[in-house]
Amino acid sequence: MTAAAAKMTLIERLPKVKGRLREQAAMDKVTWFQVGGPADVLYKPDDAEDLAHFLKNTPVDIPLFTLGVGSNLLVRDSGFRGVVIRLGRKFVEMSVETGNRLRVGAGALDLNVARFAAENGLAGAEFLSGVPGSIGGALRMNAGAYGSEVKDILLSATAYDRDGNCHELTAADMGFSYRHCEIPKDWIFTEAVFQLQPDDPAKITNRMNEIAKRREDSQPIKSRTGGSTFANPDGARAWELVDAVGARGLKIGNAQISEKHCNFLINTGGATAADLEAVAEEARRRVFEKFDTLLRWEIVRLGEVDLKAKEEAGQV
Ligand SMILES: Cc1cc2nc3c(=O)[nH]c(=O)nc-3n(C[C@H](O)[C@H](O)[C@H](O)COP(=O)(O)OP(=O)(O)OC[C@H]3O[C@@H](n4cnc5c(N)ncnc54)[C@H](O)[C@@H]3O)c2cc1C
Repeated sequence: MTAAAAKMTLIERLPKVKGRLREQAAMDKVTWFQVGGPADVLYKPDDAEDLAHFLKNTPVDIPLFTLGVGSNLLVRDSGFRGVVIRLGRKFVEMSVETGNRLRVGAGALDLNVARFAAENGLAGAEFLSGVPGSIGGALRMNAGAYGSEVKDILLSATAYDRDGNCHELTAADMGFSYRHCEIPKDWIFTEAVFQLQPDDPAKITNRMNEIAKRREDSQPIKSRTGGSTFANPDGARAWELVDAVGARGLKIGNAQISEKHCNFLINTGGATAADLEAVAEEARRRVFEKFDTLLRWEIVRLGEVDLKAKEEAGQV
């Protein structure tokens, strides 16, 4: 960074864009957990061209993070020193293409995509109705539920790299594995094409209704949560391990491991991100101690750890 750049605020260092740039954007308002400090800047690109221009012209030392709808994200209390990018209205379009294909913007909600597919008599995307995220998040996390995952239906995806170059990716390019893809973390997905199969809309809707019922019975879907906290390790289920170490219902401050499903973390009201992280870490520590298994966080954590606050809370 030059001396002149060092004197400028972050927003002053960003290129002029067609979309919106907002300083001190509250992240607790846009994530499911409803915790976390602000992002320095929130950028909502107007369209893909605007996004490419922003990426090309943003100095490389400025950290960027792409937000979906924050259903798998824990923003730390210190917030994020950089720019959070959130795809806006131009990225939610959906259309049916020949060959039973569905083209969808990465900002579209998974549920809306599943409903759109059902209305058009296209089967295979029902599982998306059980994932409360966006298509961008679903691509990044290889989202899945009830035996299906994005990997099974993805034909291709479009992504922009940190330099603003557009990439057309095949499903094989994505390098999907369980709740993971190999695409560099700073690439931004803007679109996906799914390969589906024709079926009776009523039958597809019935299957979606079954999924909704199963979720309601087994997950705390009305809580401030972030989905599965830990990925299932090989040959085991994270929730069973957490349960076996007596962490079901464990509380630190207003953060709790759900009684209903103990791989879900809950902000019972007024929790800090530090408390949520600490209660999960305690379960992780116990699982490691008892089973010699180190659980991998599935929830994405954003921002720096506030070591001073942790020390004051006796957590280090
Ligand atoms: C009640 C509940 C139930 C859940 N059930 C399931 C389930 O059954 N199965 C499942 O798989 N998940 C589940 N989840 C987790 C979550 O919904 C999924 O991981 C979802 O795919 C995340 O999407 P999002 O848009 O919210 O992403 P975010 O949480 O906003 O972000 C998650 C990650 O995706 C990246 N990302 C988001 N958008 C883009 C983009 N356009 N380009 C590049 N990267 C991007 C982010 O940078 C981050 O790394 C659940 C969550 C909740 C709260």
